[in-house]
Amino acid sequence: MSLLVVGSVAYDGIETPFGKKDRILGGSATYISLASSYFTEEINLVGVVGKDFSDDDIELLKSKNIDLEGLQVDKSGNTFFWKGKYHHDLNMRDTLDTQLNVFERFDPVIPDSYKDARFVALGNIEPSLQEKVLHQVNDPALVVMDTMNFWIEGTPDALKKTLKGVDLLVINDSEARELTDEPNLIIAAQKVREMGPDSLIIKKGEHGALLFTGDEIFSAPAYPVIDIFDPTGAGDTFMGGLLGWLSYTDDLSAENMRRAVVMGSVMASFCVEEFGPDRLKNLTEEEIYDRYKQFRHLSVIPEIDS
Ligand code: AMP
Repeated sequence: MSLLVVGSVAYDGIETPFGKKDRILGGSATYISLASSYFTEEINLVGVVGKDFSDDDIELLKSKNIDLEGLQVDKSGNTFFWKGKYHHDLNMRDTLDTQLNVFERFDPVIPDSYKDARFVALGNIEPSLQEKVLHQVNDPALVVMDTMNFWIEGTPDALKKTLKGVDLLVINDSEARELTDEPNLIIAAQKVREMGPDSLIIKKGEHGALLFTGDEIFSAPAYPVIDIFDPTGAGDTFMGGLLGWLSYTDDLSAENMRRAVVMGSVMASFCVEEFGPDRLKNLTEEEIYDRYKQFRHLSVIPEIDS
């Protein structure tokens, strides 16, 4: 089943307590595509890169079967650059630099061959651009969207308009609270779903994720990663694993959504083990399914006599 991924393709500078990289491949569309490539064969990426984007990075994406017809190459400038620094508490990060570069002029044009996508991933970009994508696709089965505080604070009206066309929103706990002005996450979830999305996932960093779908709430654990090096891209990788699984199975039942949330968590748990997307380059099927099993064991609750 085809998956359309729209988002940023970037170079990142990253500093964590464990080391530093001045320039490494990044961007929301990159992480979503790499993570989903382990499950689905038809991934169509729409984004923009500049004149400095390396052939090696193009080859990496192609080697993962990611179609790049929709990747615009704008020779008039450089690729989007983002620089972040993580603290000892890896949930805390400071953005040190954001250079929009060619991203400033980005107009997401969806090639005709991508318009029948069954699944659509709207990575974290300006909400009005996300909405433009929705106007160009033909009746997808599932539209999944990510956003961030920057847009919740900066363009709340455009964001709320875009949300009306979204089936599943994936955000973190602080974003859910800020979007709804509501401290209680369960009530915040209700309020988000009243804005448009049928279903909602609230990510809680190293404390797992909550899925709200139909009348159900599902709480997924987080994997206790020992070798955590760099959390960059974990949220996008979660979305890639989730959508990869859903497009591979083509099953949107509540039970399969639970599996998808855990598969998202599996892929995110790998992502943080190395800098940038390095760990997502050479995973094996065995590693992925093995970790899925470990996730299941993590949260088995023994019965009691009552
Ligand atoms: P995550 O850690 O999942 O929140 O995503 C990190 C990725 O988001 C990095 O690779 C950055 O290149 C990308 N990124 C950071 N800021 C922005 C932004 N304003 N718009 C689009 N992508 C961004």
